[in-house]
Amino acid sequence: MAFEGLTERLQNAIGKLRRKGKISESDVKEVMREIRLALLEADVNFGVVKDFVKTVRGRAVGAEVLESLTPAQQIVKIVNEELVKVMGEQAVPLNKSPKIPTVIMMVGLQGAGKTTTASKLALKLKNEQNARPLMIAADVYRPAAIDQLKTLGAENDLPVFDMGTDVSPVKIVEEGLKVAEENKNDYVFIDTAGRLQIDEKLMQELADIQKLASPDEVLLTVDSMTGQNATEVAEGFNEQLNITGVILTKLDGDTRGGAALSIRAVTGKPIKFIGQGEKMADLDVFYPDRMASRILG
Ligand code: GDP
Repeated sequence: MAFEGLTERLQNAIGKLRRKGKISESDVKEVMREIRLALLEADVNFGVVKDFVKTVRGRAVGAEVLESLTPAQQIVKIVNEELVKVMGEQAVPLNKSPKIPTVIMMVGLQGAGKTTTASKLALKLKNEQNARPLMIAADVYRPAAIDQLKTLGAENDLPVFDMGTDVSPVKIVEEGLKVAEENKNDYVFIDTAGRLQIDEKLMQELADIQKLASPDEVLLTVDSMTGQNATEVAEGFNEQLNITGVILTKLDGDTRGGAALSIRAVTGKPIKFIGQGEKMADLDVFYPDRMASRILG
């Protein structure tokens, strides 16, 4: 289960305080040492852990906590509040264009869940807002990617625009946007190519698509199972494309969860959705407070 190790370690660390009546500054120091290790082991970014621990420690050595009759509860409260802060406080909704269509460009490494997530999100908008999305298949390097998008489109009654693999992605997007305009689609999803890792050529291609399409959202899909790497990938894409948000996938798996806690702090960009399974319905809005409660168990 996601966060299992982290939750257990945080609970153990704070639990030790429950047996004490009053706590001292050195008790706080000890519990913070354990929280620090728990976060590092869960693949939370080093700088994020450092700042987090400093803030929590600063608040926890305050007189109210040390003199409280329930110090453990006070510390749980502080940790919870700071977890929520690190993850961005509030859920951040999708950007919406004042005039249709709202263009959402999906980017991410191969296998992160980009194609699946594009379809999940398009379907969510269709179901919840009666939206009429068009999906554009612009991953010309992996023929299977186009077929996958077409299959998902057919299964969920979502139109897909494609021109096969012999046309440049920029051209496909250009033509796709014309079709969306003619058909008055209110959302357009551009499914772009992924690679195994960030490379110059891919980034240039994505930048070209971005220039042409002026998307309202550049959503990066990252796989939470990839640990520290997920945060590095987010940083890399953000530097090159100035992303507008992140979708963190595979939180149903055995992820240690560090990416959920690091991405916002490192990139300054919000996690907007989380993927929690392979099925189309397994996509949820990211609520920092709910995630903090889940982490604390
Ligand atoms: P892409 O290469 O980025 O387009 O990735 P795909 O959309 O093809 O997804 C890669 C694999 O991850 C597929 O088998 C998906 O079903 C799976 N996947 C995507 N999102 C999730 C998720 O949130 N949870 C789980 N368990 N699997 C996911």
